[in-house]
Amino acid sequence: MQEQKLDAMDKIISLAKRRGFIFPGSDIYGGLANAWDYGPLGVELKNNVKQRWWKTFVTRRADMVGLDAALLMNTKVWQASGHLKEFSDPLVECKACHARFRADQIDIKSPCPDCKKGELTAPKQFNLMLKTFLGPVESEDNVVYFRPETAQGIFVNFKNIADTMRMKLPFGIAQIGKAFRNEITPGNYIFRTREFEQMEIEYFIRPPKDEAEWQTAFEDWRLAILAWCSDLGLKTEEVHELEVAKDELAHYSKRTIDFEYDFPFGRKELFGLAYRTDFDLNNHSLNYTDDNGDKLVPHCIEPSLGVDRSILAALLSAYSEEEIKEGDIRTVLKLPKWLAPIKAGVFPLMKNKPELVAKAKEVFALLSADYTMQYDDNGNVGKRYRRQDEIGTPYCLTIDFDTLGDNTVTVRDRDTMEQQRVLIAELPNFLRTNIK
Ligand code: ATP
Repeated sequence: MQEQKLDAMDKIISLAKRRGFIFPGSDIYGGLANAWDYGPLGVELKNNVKQRWWKTFVTRRADMVGLDAALLMNTKVWQASGHLKEFSDPLVECKACHARFRADQIDIKSPCPDCKKGELTAPKQFNLMLKTFLGPVESEDNVVYFRPETAQGIFVNFKNIADTMRMKLPFGIAQIGKAFRNEITPGNYIFRTREFEQMEIEYFIRPPKDEAEWQTAFEDWRLAILAWCSDLGLKTEEVHELEVAKDELAHYSKRTIDFEYDFPFGRKELFGLAYRTDFDLNNHSLNYTDDNGDKLVPHCIEPSLGVDRSILAALLSAYSEEEIKEGDIRTVLKLPKWLAPIKAGVFPLMKNKPELVAKAKEVFALLSADYTMQYDDNGNVGKRYRRQDEIGTPYCLTIDFDTLGDNTVTVRDRDTMEQQRVLIAELPNFLRTNIK
């Protein structure tokens, strides 16, 4: 079973590389450990994830606004937030082979998991912040850190946003962006990398009078995260909620739920939801003035989602192999239609017939204003269908000789493989109705 699951991971990695979703980073120079580049289809997928999240949690809500803060921030931010002191993982090293591990992820009393014989050192705290220098002099005064989370950019802009946008509690601020962590044990493809992308929200509420008040807001966000998982096409039975035990909560949190997913390499964190109280605004000495002129320090609830983990889970859930007839297997990425990198393939039946090519180009031009399309005139139509199935394209549009007479095209559905004729003029409406 386990082997079969890991096989699923290999299949995704190979498909993603072969079809232009995700390439190993710096590949022509031998790569850079655990760095990955999103190719032409990967970037479409990623943009779809980010745009959908933004639309769901910012555009469609009156109580939310967005932000795009700088990635490099004054070091005082990280002092105040506690990251310089606290943002570390316990590190152990094998005395024989010098492999390094996170002490909270292995049994440190047993011999080294790599060489199976060396003794492990006592755990020491290793700070995960990546450093660099600003300016030409590499002195301590010029040290800055790459942000390890997007959240602090939100907190330090709290007052700017509350004032300029005249926000009334409760309200939230959302941000999407890169974060960097010098992870001790990166790996499992795009699951744990040192450079990754987050989609974070800080949702601010009045200081709660009792527990019920913040629990209600927390519950709303718990449901919102579950809805997002289902939007990504993840099966309910593959997503699990782990209520983090009181004694394991991060220093800033009063309640945390880890949303876990059954990855082929085990059940691991996908997203997190934390009640951060007034910890951060207090640390930055920030407050809010309500309509009565009273100053208060709002509390906040933080849904924190990874873009890359969203993509990995969605790809794993979508991957399927179907036996169409004996010995004939088609690979299909059954991605939710909104998520598919290409929305429709456009195929002239034959590439050496100028009338068909001209019509196909017309269809491409009509739809590519609103949808990412792919023009393919290579090989027989059956092969073209299979190529689109493999990258999750919901529809294929074939322009044939009938098209020249009646202006209809064959629309073939990825999941049912059924075909129907649709008028070219109706295609924008067809895609708008079906791609959600
Ligand atoms: P983990 O326990 O896996 O290290 P974490 O609890 O440190 O994760 P958070 O600090 O809660 O993670 O980060 C919020 C989200 O950012 C995670 O749920 C995940 O989706 C994403 N994330 C965190 N670290 C990484 C990473 N190294 N690579 C890719 N995504 C990450």
